Amino acid sequence: MIIVMSPNSTAADLEKVKIKIKSEGLEYHLSTGTSRTIVGVIGDKKAISNLEMHCCLPGVEKTMRITEKYKLVSREFKGEDSIIDIDGIKIGGPNPVVMAGPCAVESMEQLMESAKAVSEGGAQFLRGGAFKPRTSPYDFQGMALDGLKMLREAADSFNLKVVTEVLDQRTVEEVAEYADILQIGARNMQNFQLLKEVGRSGRPVLLKRGLSATIKEWLNAAEYVMSSGCDDVIFCERGIRTYETYTRNTLDLSAVVAVKELSHLPVIVDPSHGTGRRSMVRPMAKAAIAAGADGLIIEVHPHPEVALCDGDQSLTPAEFNDVMDEIKRLSQILRGE
Ligand code: PEP
Ligand code: MN
Repeated sequence: MIIVMSPNSTAADLEKVKIKIKSEGLEYHLSTGTSRTIVGVIGDKKAISNLEMHCCLPGVEKTMRITEKYKLVSREFKGEDSIIDIDGIKIGGPNPVVMAGPCAVESMEQLMESAKAVSEGGAQFLRGGAFKPRTSPYDFQGMALDGLKMLREAADSFNLKVVTEVLDQRTVEEVAEYADILQIGARNMQNFQLLKEVGRSGRPVLLKRGLSATIKEWLNAAEYVMSSGCDDVIFCERGIRTYETYTRNTLDLSAVVAVKELSHLPVIVDPSHGTGRRSMVRPMAKAAIAAGADGLIIEVHPHPEVALCDGDQSLTPAEFNDVMDEIKRLSQILRGE
């Protein structure tokens, strides 16, 4: 349920509403808009009905039931787009954010070259997996803690932020120490314990869409993160599995539009995993921005031919520069400049 406070309600009115919610054993989540505060109430259905019957407190304009199972994530709960601010870098809003770097952290040298290339291209985030979810247990699994340290050092050297995947509940704290955004990979989108743990970590979360997840399942996964205390969730469309095998996945750009209709949270697109083919990254990156995506996450490797993973879909620094030039021009056109 959401409780809409009237524009002239006082802080004391809001305090009383919070106390009432707590007294029913429920949790609340505040969304402070320009004119109104909205209180999202989550918890047991019966307790919510009870609260609804008794919620005619001063300052309350109206109460509304959110019909969907995802609540905090929904547009009904918050009408305006959420903009996530990470030390002044805004995700959502008029300028697309770009996260770029290798699939996996392989060495300090590789990472420094990558960080230099992506920062020169204009990316704000360095990506790279220190913990890799690989289909085969015999494939390179990542450099773990050493990789996290390298990511931080390389990013700091080029004034970049770090986004990296956390694979396991037990390493959330460790990854949160080095990363600015915790990435939940496609294979873990419905790992509910992990979602709750990253929600409690205090870090923003990049939530990739599961390989065969419906849009509503994806929204519900984000609800797990938000209801655990994290307001800053970013969706990432990275392609879904279909009958098509020419591309690694089928990049579902309609999902960008759907999620923006259903949720206030930002959505970025991963054209690298979405296609699996270097030649397709640039056109799909442009298409994603044209479809309304708030940003991109792109694999870039200084020497894709020797990459330990996903070399076929990784751009060279020169190719990345070209994509960035086009994205900048496209964004200007979309903003009407
Ligand atoms: C990645 O971004 O490194 C990755 C493994 O992606 P996904 O979870 O989308 O497969
Ligand atoms: Mn990859």
